[in-house]
Amino acid sequence: MQALTNRSKLVDRRPMTALERIYLWNILKGMMITFRHIFKKKATINYPEQKRSFSAVFRGLQILNRDEEGRERCTACGLCAVACPAEAITMEGAERLPTEEHLYREEKYAAKYEINMLRCIFCGLCEEACPKDAIYLSQTFAPANYSREGFIYKKEDLLIPHPKENPEAYAKALGERKKINN
Ligand code: SF4
Ligand code: SF4
Repeated sequence: MQALTNRSKLVDRRPMTALERIYLWNILKGMMITFRHIFKKKATINYPEQKRSFSAVFRGLQILNRDEEGRERCTACGLCAVACPAEAITMEGAERLPTEEHLYREEKYAAKYEINMLRCIFCGLCEEACPKDAIYLSQTFAPANYSREGFIYKKEDLLIPHPKENPEAYAKALGERKKINN
């Protein structure tokens, strides 16, 4: 029969010798391969103790941003939800009360904001669409979870720490993203 490629090999059908029948030589050959790899540079790391650095353009878990006063930037305009190709974002808007001016930057704010991480493809279109610099994709990723509900990230999970009340956590969440458009 004509071979389709030149990679075919003839199978050796000779009866096995006594040495081959106890597989000792093959076991030794296998152990030699293992032994050789002990001295080679490892391709793996001990995650989560060790972590690889991400590319500067890595797009990870979304963060809902605050301004320098700590007020939430999101005005619940819905542009991110419209732009999202995976329909992963849902929100409910509410009107800001006169006593809430220190909490919300605009007259309307997101009373509820959710992202379904099982749908999200981390494309970054929500960040592109937002006119208020209220959402961006950070350099972390959504950790593993045992339930589907655990992947529905609520506003409390997404909101960046308060820059005045918790400046260290705020700076850490901001990471490389130092510039904020006012
Ligand atoms: S990153 Fe893309 S898929 Fe994920 S919520 Fe934003 S727009 Fe939707
Ligand atoms: S995150 Fe931005 S685009 Fe989305 S609702 Fe809030 S202000 Fe609008």
